Amino acid sequence: MRRTPAQIVVLGGGFGGLYAAMTLQRELAGSDVAQVTLVDRRNYFTFTPFLPEVAAGTLGRAHVTYPFRFLAQKGQFRFIQGVVQTFDLGNRTIQTDTTTIPYDYLIVSLGGVPSFFGNPQIEAHTLTLNSVDDALGIRNHVIRLFEQAVVEPDPIRRRQLLTFVVAGAGPCGVELAAELHHLIRTALLKYYPVDPSEVRIVLVSKGDRILPDFGGKLADTGQQTLMRRGIEVRLNSRVTGASAEHVELNDDETIPTRTPIWAAGVTPNPILARLPVPKNPQGGVVVDEFLNIPEFPEVYVIGDGASVVDRRQGRPYPALAPVAIRQGIRAAGNIMNTLQGRAAEPFRFDFTGNIVGLGCGMALVNLLGIKFHGRIGWWLYRMIHLQRLVSFRNKASLALTLALNAIFDRDLSCETWPEADQSMNSEKVSQALPDSGAPVTS
Ligand SMILES: Cc1cc2nc3c(=O)[nH]c(=O)nc-3n(C[C@H](O)[C@H](O)[C@H](O)COP(=O)(O)OP(=O)(O)OC[C@H]3O[C@@H](n4cnc5c(N)ncnc54)[C@H](O)[C@@H]3O)c2cc1C
Repeated sequence: MRRTPAQIVVLGGGFGGLYAAMTLQRELAGSDVAQVTLVDRRNYFTFTPFLPEVAAGTLGRAHVTYPFRFLAQKGQFRFIQGVVQTFDLGNRTIQTDTTTIPYDYLIVSLGGVPSFFGNPQIEAHTLTLNSVDDALGIRNHVIRLFEQAVVEPDPIRRRQLLTFVVAGAGPCGVELAAELHHLIRTALLKYYPVDPSEVRIVLVSKGDRILPDFGGKLADTGQQTLMRRGIEVRLNSRVTGASAEHVELNDDETIPTRTPIWAAGVTPNPILARLPVPKNPQGGVVVDEFLNIPEFPEVYVIGDGASVVDRRQGRPYPALAPVAIRQGIRAAGNIMNTLQGRAAEPFRFDFTGNIVGLGCGMALVNLLGIKFHGRIGWWLYRMIHLQRLVSFRNKASLALTLALNAIFDRDLSCETWPEADQSMNSEKVSQALPDSGAPVTS
């Protein structure tokens, strides 16, 4: 028998889940037909496109996060912080680490995790950029290496400390390499007595160009921009191994570095393996064009963890924020349709283009086939991301910080982190520690 009001549970407050919850909140305003519960292991939303800028110290935690409690102040909406552990689709309940949550309708939007393609060495020794703690961990790590380089007498060892390798030349890897270069050239080399010729940033691309989704000319422009700045772009190359001291490339070359960063792939959240329904080979949950699981029509799966085929193109939708956002809105709309006795509508999404920041006030933008780069690209990039930020608070603080950044140098203070952070990212460290989540100072 159905509970009254209907319980709609949204798992994961990333791009997909947050937009689903906000759509439901708006649609249900003033009605007692249903109650929405958002569940996330963190109590804030993360605006991932700005994480490379957090890693470079241009932006801070408060610019890219938004507490769910700010949204949960209105009726029909509650938030539970908890780690989803199991799904009982038969009894329509979710088990988190702290409680059992019943549902009538479920939206699963638990995102993705870095894919290491089964290489345990790479998994153990590379830094990743999947969360704001990862980004802050990279920032602290880089600054700390400069602190060490200043007092390191051995030139070989110093070069190792000052070599940064980014594996993966998609938008995330390119932005990260560009932002690290910006941090080092405009801030660290200004304050640290280090020989600039000893600093090395290497971007490793498995293809014959960077940014494979950007189309030839625009990607070439980006590649030349990075190379002009002195970033080494290694094409047709793959990172095949890593340790705390070096990375290995597929041509048997070894690059001594203390900073191997992995931005070479994303795979659906492994927790989805516990959903007893069909998956694609990567572990994405197969849903129909209405975004629900055919055997369990009350369960919707969206975002990076879903396998949704664009029937018009005959291929799956990619793991991108705009896709997750539109899926969140569609899944919420279809639940409202069901509650109000209307037919479900299929998910359709047409891309309007792609954007990537290149640091130093430059970006590449492809809007409906019209291409922009350089300063104009940067302004468009800023405007597009600014309007996507979820709150006025974040928009205002971002605009203010960017204005201040034009006048003042960025903050270079960094915490002392546990020894383990030397070779692992902060998220891995925090998972191994009690009270995970916050950086631990010694
Ligand atoms: C560094 C970086 C930069 C990116 N830049 C861009 C970009 O510029 N443009 C673009 O289109 N896309 C970008 N992406 C991809 C984009 O972030 C994803 O496609 C999008 O976030 C997917 O939305 P989602 O809702 O599926 O997952 P997410 O947004 O990842 O949300 C998943 C949520 O689930 C929560 N969660 C996970 N596991 C559990 C659990 N067991 N229990 C409870 N909660 C859990 C997480 O805390 C998170 O809040 C970027 C991604 C990264 C990592």
